[in-house]
Amino acid sequence: MPELNPNVCPRCGSTNTGATFGFNPVRINSNETLVHDVLFRCADCDKQYQAVGYSMIASRNGENSPEGFAALAKAIDNAEPLRLDLVGDDGEA
Ligand SMILES: [Zn+2]
Repeated sequence: MPELNPNVCPRCGSTNTGATFGFNPVRINSNETLVHDVLFRCADCDKQYQAVGYSMIASRNGENSPEGFAALAKAIDNAEPLRLDLVGDDGEA
């Protein structure tokens, strides 16, 4: 079973994707916030998808502290198995 990678579009396989939003934000410190079940958008097919069970650090200045990494590791330990869900219906409208 291939490992799921939230940076790869589950619809078209593009890696031209970016995180747009995270749920259940938990503040780590003044610079970093831990977010969960992150929404991604694919720049190639414009599809949005949610990486359920995925956690990442949102950092104001782009840097991550040891404290942030520790919080992320703990969140990954507690997360449900990763799943990529396409958002919205799959009609071409
Ligand atoms: Zn795509």
